Amino acid sequence: MTTANDAPLLELVEVSRHYPAGEGVVVALDRVSLTVRQGEYLAIMGQSGSGKTTLMNLIGLLDRPSEGSYRVLGQDVDALDSDELAALRRDVFGFVFQRYNLIATASAAENVELPAIYAGLGRRAREDRAAHLLQRLGLGDRLEHRPTQLSGGQQQRVSIARALVNDAAIVLADEPTGALDSRSGAEVLALLRQLNEEGRTVILITHDPAVAAEAGRVVKLHDGRIVEDSAAAATAAAGTTVAAEPPRHRLTAPDLGEAVKMALRSLKANLFRTVLTLLGIVIGVASVVTLLAVGNGASQQVVDRISAMGTNLLLIRPGAPGVRSSGDNASLTPEDAAAIQALDNIASVAPERSSGATLRYGNKDYATQVTGTWPGYVSARDWDIAEGGFFTAADLRSYAPVVVLGQTVVKNLFGGGDPLGSYVLINSVPFEVIGVLASKGASPMGGDNDDAAFVPLTTGFMRVFGSHYLRTITVEVDDVARIDETQAAITALLIERHRGEDFQIRNMASILDTVSETQGTLTILLGAIAAISLLVGGIGVMNIMLVSVTERTREIGVRMATGARMRDILLQFNTEAVVVCGIGGVLGVLLGLGLGMLAESLGVPVIFAPEPALMAFACAFLTGLVFGFLPARKAARLDPVVALSSE
Ligand code: ADP
Ligand code: MG
Repeated sequence: MTTANDAPLLELVEVSRHYPAGEGVVVALDRVSLTVRQGEYLAIMGQSGSGKTTLMNLIGLLDRPSEGSYRVLGQDVDALDSDELAALRRDVFGFVFQRYNLIATASAAENVELPAIYAGLGRRAREDRAAHLLQRLGLGDRLEHRPTQLSGGQQQRVSIARALVNDAAIVLADEPTGALDSRSGAEVLALLRQLNEEGRTVILITHDPAVAAEAGRVVKLHDGRIVEDSAAAATAAAGTTVAAEPPRHRLTAPDLGEAVKMALRSLKANLFRTVLTLLGIVIGVASVVTLLAVGNGASQQVVDRISAMGTNLLLIRPGAPGVRSSGDNASLTPEDAAAIQALDNIASVAPERSSGATLRYGNKDYATQVTGTWPGYVSARDWDIAEGGFFTAADLRSYAPVVVLGQTVVKNLFGGGDPLGSYVLINSVPFEVIGVLASKGASPMGGDNDDAAFVPLTTGFMRVFGSHYLRTITVEVDDVARIDETQAAITALLIERHRGEDFQIRNMASILDTVSETQGTLTILLGAIAAISLLVGGIGVMNIMLVSVTERTREIGVRMATGARMRDILLQFNTEAVVVCGIGGVLGVLLGLGLGMLAESLGVPVIFAPEPALMAFACAFLTGLVFGFLPARKAARLDPVVALSSE
């Protein structure tokens, strides 16, 4: 992996780092020049506040110089954007921190794998490498342990394994033994020495001279300046040093699968909080699904009842528009019906005249509604004949004394017996029963459709009804699409015949339209409720994600130090929000379906459609995307140095 190359591994020339402090500036590093070659073991020493960590952050590309130039493998850092910097950092440097900085919710192996994920290494390769490294560092039996289940020395070895997983040419260790007991510290130092002997460059910060003695070269800092460099002369002489090949700059796409896995893990780590956050989304989604199912069920019931009467019908009543008819209005006649029959697009015409009458069979009397009409009635009303037949045009012409009975009348007059061919008396006139209608059940107004008897209109006028006027004319059209046109034609015809508009035409299709419109309004209303509850849920998600970003600032710093680009962090946190909302969406849909089924079992009409469930889920998903973005962006924009030093 190495080639002979004159370029030094790292080259800092007159590098300064200033921090603004009140009115003035703090000079943390003051014109530092330092050259590091492949294979060196370098200790940086100095008192607290001398600039060691600042220098380390600059070397490790977590920070940029305020002045001066810095070249890594011959590449000027100044020319790189933050993603390129992250890629170079990921490929060249491995960080070891004083306080290990392992991700608490991940196992030892997963912690080691982290930089490899950002480097785009495949899962198997990653797992193999992590297991191999941990084995090598004596932790082969601790792969699945969480950081809290490991001792300090073991945690530091995990963090060294993490630093090595991308085969870093340079290991940067900031006080790696500072938090360890002397034996664990010695083990870690032995490990670093071994890495150096294998050819890796090791740069170590320490304030302990004994630790510094391990290194081949000691650089001393004081007030941001290099005051001593033990190998300044030696390196100048060593012309045969080699540098690693230039970094590969692999362009890796953020790994969504890993982001989801990490998201699930961190959500599990805060289960109670996650559940509370979920609840808002669950309730929002469930309410949409249930309310829409029940609302659709209710309006469908109304639509069904109206449709049962037929949507291809026009109802003509006597009386001027807007005036409620007494029913005895003299305006509609059978001749009008005949004229309508002759129009285009007419399937059938059924003029009606009804009155209450008492039917007698044997010694039984039964009071019902007798309707005189035309043969077209059964077609217009879409009513089946159960037995016998309906009267014909010939019956109509011949004033035949025949009657067709509804089921309720048959039951009351004949009990179980067969009425066909029997004679019933209507107003003392015998009518032969020629047919029985099939049961039609309740009318939209709640009356009993089957409590009725039908006679030819002509016979009715002669024998049953006093006057010769119609109560209604029901017109069945052939082509529903042209129903408005037909309605206009009938209106024109009747106005011409009556010399004025003394009738009203109602269009069943338009009544249905009104119902659908109401249903549409209901849907919009429910949609608004859904939007509001999802908004509230979304704000909850955003709130909790902001808290999470604050809590996990250090973790974000670690991820950045191990090579995460801004977009990786953005993806990670936005994925968490989307996962919460997605889970909430699924649970909400299930809960909504469950509540709908419960309502159904209680007798409430319910209609489940896939669209509201899908829409609600999609909205929940979108909520996560939108409301997770801001916190995720906040996380992605963190300065790695600040994030790493947060408590
Ligand atoms: P060391 O690691 O040697 O203890 P540091 O590199 O952390 O020293 O700090 C060097 C100097 O820079 C200190 O005086 C410190 O107060 C200052 N400094 C470090 N970071 C910041 C910062 N973010 N803002 C302002 N001053 C800082
Ligand atoms: Mg420090």
